[in-house]
Amino acid sequence: MKNKKSICMWCHCHCPVEVHVEENRLVGFEVDGEHPHGNLYEEASKGCLRRANARKWFYHPSRLDYPLKRTGDRGEGKWEQISWNQALDEIAGKLDRIVDEYGPEAIATSRGTGRTEDEYRARFFNLLGSPNIIGATEVCFGPAVAVSSSLLGWMPWPFPRRGITESILVLGTNVHSYQNVFTLFFQAQEEGAKLIVVDPRETEAAEKADMWLQIRPGTDAALLLAFMNVIIEEGLYDEGFVEEWCHGFEELVKHVKGLTPAWASEITDLPEEDIVEAARVYGESEAACSFHGMGIEHQPNAMQTLQARFSLPALTGNLDISGGDIISGPFTDVTLEQDVDAWERISKKQKKKQIGSDRFRLQSWKGYDLVQEENVKETWGKKCGGSMDLSLAHAPSVYRAVLDEDPYPVKALLTVASNPLLTQPNVKLIYEALKKLNLHIVQDFFLTPTAMMADYVLPAASWLERPYLYNGYGFGSFLMGAERAVPPKIEEKYNRRTDFQLWKELGRRLGQGEHWPWNNLEEAYDDRLEPMGKTFKEFMDENRWSSSKKKLKKYKDIGFGTPTGKVELYSTIFEKLGYQPLPEFREPPESPRSKPSLADEYEYILITGGRFQPYYHSEWRQIEGFRRIRPDPLAQIHPETAERQNINDGDWVWIETLRGKIKQKCEYFKGISPNVIHVEHGWWFPEKKAERSNPRGFRNSNANILTDSDPENCDPIGGNWPLRAGVCKIYKAEK
Ligand code: SF4
Repeated sequence: MKNKKSICMWCHCHCPVEVHVEENRLVGFEVDGEHPHGNLYEEASKGCLRRANARKWFYHPSRLDYPLKRTGDRGEGKWEQISWNQALDEIAGKLDRIVDEYGPEAIATSRGTGRTEDEYRARFFNLLGSPNIIGATEVCFGPAVAVSSSLLGWMPWPFPRRGITESILVLGTNVHSYQNVFTLFFQAQEEGAKLIVVDPRETEAAEKADMWLQIRPGTDAALLLAFMNVIIEEGLYDEGFVEEWCHGFEELVKHVKGLTPAWASEITDLPEEDIVEAARVYGESEAACSFHGMGIEHQPNAMQTLQARFSLPALTGNLDISGGDIISGPFTDVTLEQDVDAWERISKKQKKKQIGSDRFRLQSWKGYDLVQEENVKETWGKKCGGSMDLSLAHAPSVYRAVLDEDPYPVKALLTVASNPLLTQPNVKLIYEALKKLNLHIVQDFFLTPTAMMADYVLPAASWLERPYLYNGYGFGSFLMGAERAVPPKIEEKYNRRTDFQLWKELGRRLGQGEHWPWNNLEEAYDDRLEPMGKTFKEFMDENRWSSSKKKLKKYKDIGFGTPTGKVELYSTIFEKLGYQPLPEFREPPESPRSKPSLADEYEYILITGGRFQPYYHSEWRQIEGFRRIRPDPLAQIHPETAERQNINDGDWVWIETLRGKIKQKCEYFKGISPNVIHVEHGWWFPEKKAERSNPRGFRNSNANILTDSDPENCDPIGGNWPLRAGVCKIYKAEK
């Protein structure tokens, strides 16, 4: 048996693992005990069911093995198997004709959660001249990086230390989403750190918290502004740090003067005294950490909520100190992923055509160039992430452009490692857009609902079948390597390819040949490691891991990577982009308070997006064992509310919004307010037969049937679509 060193990519813990392989067959894998943080990963992945079911996933009979070409209507599930060469030749020919007729901007791509080689996707698109990359990072840590880079010049990350960290502020996330991070939080908590969790639901994190603030969905900005009010009024801020290293403190003082705990209490539905107490616990700590999750980034006021969230550690002097939020800076010894995305190759003229970028500027090319090129890179020598993560077209506007040809026609979509019919908002509109495309390509592991709407489906090599270099999406100060554990091609059985190969092969066919000198990822990684004086194989053989020298308070040497060289409490970048430079609260555009006329019919607040592990986003629903654990999607409803609606625990219920309705099973849950309903995310039914208008049952229980994608209701700065604070009604459904 061989043991291969890899990194598990089935969730964002990215555990370093040892994969056991016998005669090219996967036997299983476990955490790599030789990794410097092996113990942490062992603890974080304890009982991981995805790991335990690795073989069931890898050898699942419905995994895609060969390229398929559609022979029936989209969604009908009629395919013929073709060779890779035929698929690539035909796809390249069709893309070429679209470029000729409509320009490269008529070709868009949808990406997922970044667990692939997205830097090479960006390379292909930047060389092609299309600015229209859309995907999950627009509402998943892209906002955090964009806002923190604007304010602090780099994205901070919490590193609690036992006995040093005195408090930890966690907003809108749960343990299973960041098991490795929470493991450190709980260790610090055991040594006395106070854990403050802000969440509308009593999650596992909330249960373990010293203080749980059950906030009204979509109002975190008001809470954080009131925290700042208390911290300033009571003199809990770090005067020395603020004086020397913060820009705009006086403006912030004036700005938050009236934003008192009483004001925030009325907005957030939190008791005033709880707001004051939490602000004091955080503000009085000698060292404090802060962390947030998708509960914040999925709000229609996400960017200014994040602005307040990242101002807090600066105000209290918790940046880059022991036990606080560390600004690591980049790993500088190699060529990073953000250095190979060919960002310099796309012209200004094409950048301007990025759909939605006239309105949502911070996460577009305009914001990216201003924040990363002109400021962050000047200070750190590297950007805090690549264009594939931080310079995106506005996804809801791109799907509208497919339908309306406004501002111009979008004719082709390359959906790679992404399942937008489940994971993007307002999927009925997306379904219509997919139907209308001239060309839709999907590369994935399984025939998802989105893949069912493709003209060509290409089988993807998984993390077990490819090498990988990981450094925390370009903002970590470390580098980890993974070797190919099993081959992606076995004669007579399957022939899968990495997405790197897809972009390289299409690039070579479309005249980009000189920019794709590598035959495989190992060769591309040799190039990236060249500054280190190592080949990829040498890096893997020697240590597989490297990190920058640790040093605290690096700002004393180089300042912050912002226009003023300081933390910008008053953001000159936001101001330059035409936005309010200080954080503000904005009532969710579809709430009982902003739309009282809807309240009679849609009396509940809807939050979507909570996950049930071991499912991950819309993945893993093929695995029988998982479906035995959780066969049906569950909507969490307070028992008082359910009883009022004559709904029993376990009944099927309809959840309906202005966009549509879905069915999930009622789960009585006392940890949610009686006026809030939570529906699970990511549900489709791989066992369902092909059905043209409802491929794989994507309409049945899919939270994103309910969600809003109207650009008017998206975050005005980042375009984040509102997944967490709409309104709905519920009623009992037939079985
Ligand atoms: S799926 Fe399990 S083993 Fe894999 S990275 Fe996540 S926690 Fe680690």
